[in-house]
Amino acid sequence: MNQPVRILIVGGGYVGMYTALGIQRKLARRAEITVVDPQSNMTYQPFLPEAAAGSVEPRHVVVSLRRVLRRCRVLTAAVTRVEQARRVATLQPIEGESYEVPYDLLVMCTGSVSRLLPIPGLADHGIGFKTIGEAIFLRNHVLSRLYLAASTPEAWLRRRALTFVFVGGGYAGVEAIAELEDMARYALRTVDGIEPRDMRWVLVEAADRIMPEVSPSLASYTQERLAERGIDVRLSTRLESAMGGRIVLSDGDAFDSDTLVWTAGVKANPMLGQTGLPLDAKGRLPCHADLTVRDVDGVFAAGDCAAVPDLSKIAQDPDAVCAPSAQHAVRQAKRLAGNLVATVHGRPRKDYVHAYAGSVASLGLYRGVAEIYGIKLRGILAWFMHRTYHVSRMPTFNRKVRVLADWTAALFFRREVVALGQLQRPRTEFELAAGKRELP
Ligand SMILES: Cc1cc2nc3c(=O)[nH]c(=O)nc-3n(C[C@H](O)[C@H](O)[C@H](O)COP(=O)(O)OP(=O)(O)OC[C@H]3O[C@@H](n4cnc5c(N)ncnc54)[C@H](O)[C@@H]3O)c2cc1C
Repeated sequence: MNQPVRILIVGGGYVGMYTALGIQRKLARRAEITVVDPQSNMTYQPFLPEAAAGSVEPRHVVVSLRRVLRRCRVLTAAVTRVEQARRVATLQPIEGESYEVPYDLLVMCTGSVSRLLPIPGLADHGIGFKTIGEAIFLRNHVLSRLYLAASTPEAWLRRRALTFVFVGGGYAGVEAIAELEDMARYALRTVDGIEPRDMRWVLVEAADRIMPEVSPSLASYTQERLAERGIDVRLSTRLESAMGGRIVLSDGDAFDSDTLVWTAGVKANPMLGQTGLPLDAKGRLPCHADLTVRDVDGVFAAGDCAAVPDLSKIAQDPDAVCAPSAQHAVRQAKRLAGNLVATVHGRPRKDYVHAYAGSVASLGLYRGVAEIYGIKLRGILAWFMHRTYHVSRMPTFNRKVRVLADWTAALFFRREVVALGQLQRPRTEFELAAGKRELP
């Protein structure tokens, strides 16, 4: 009998999880599938803004890889190196020695990381918005700033605590600031001495418009709705410095803030540089339309870390590649799964082709914008569309039901606005009791 084909999937996010789901049954007898990710869960990133705002329970926007990938071997570790000549990858678990895992077919889907710029103070003072940990942190942090402002007599401290700065006006930044402002505004109902107008929310965008994913008219509409809520959108403006929490903008404005959220774009995961695989000028794996990596044998890639030709645009632009989005990631994963099955069975692979359908974005409870196949929607209809679309895309029936249950409960009960401050410093109480820390 033939030896099973060893398939190693590096990254258990959108592409990794959906690809593994797509092949685990079909190749049950023919392949040994290993999925490696430093996180034990897949995160449904489009729900991060709602998780940060408390509209959805954070645990419900992640999916346990071990639970859904029953026929795969799931390893919680980071791949630190790939040697394609020997067909081995080096894995580093959270603790202990690194070790090698051999493969026959390799699938690279390590996604993207925040694209930082060398701005003084950014690395020390800023935070990204790509992980469930960051969403939970930001929720607690924003609420804690409101409670600090309500509890200090010092005007400067209060002003700084109530100033929230987001850099980057793509859908992630717009949704994040809109959802968190909405949550903070609601939380102020129970906070004495602070009015919504005391808060300052600033969205800084280097381009001359926000939301490049939608048409200019919808972007202007979104900007107007944000401005109505007092969100200060600064277009054609850059963050120059954030040293010690002092925010300096390129338009000459400067102020203090405890909160700096960086949502100004992503770049391919830099770990690809340790794989020895070919990379394009943007550090992505250059792919053929069938999702195989160019110039190497037996290596596939998809999602944010891959430059996949966009066949729907190739007639207008021969160099067009798919934009980093969940929409492409999930469809590429389906094609990738089909092509892995075809490869194992010695059948021809098919090309990936999908025309971008549009975007949906939530701007807080009952508010949203959407542009689907050129049709523009605004307000509650767009918000409903956003929820319907994303819950339909949310992996697993279990998670769909839980997210729907969160939304249904929110219709009948007041919004939850508790800051779980201890999550940020869980050992403080114990260290005080042990005398390892002085009373404040
Ligand atoms: C806040 C936010 C909102 C978004 N909203 C939308 C939206 O509304 N619509 C839309 O289309 N797109 C949206 N996106 C983009 C979308 O989520 C991404 O395009 C999609 O997740 C890309 O899938 P991926 O599998 O390539 O990467 P990911 O889903 O990020 O998965 C990459 C995986 O690789 C793992 N990994 C990293 N390094 C290693 C390593 N060394 N070894 C092993 N594993 C590793 C990571 O832990 C991760 O699990 C949003 C993104 C964010 C951050």
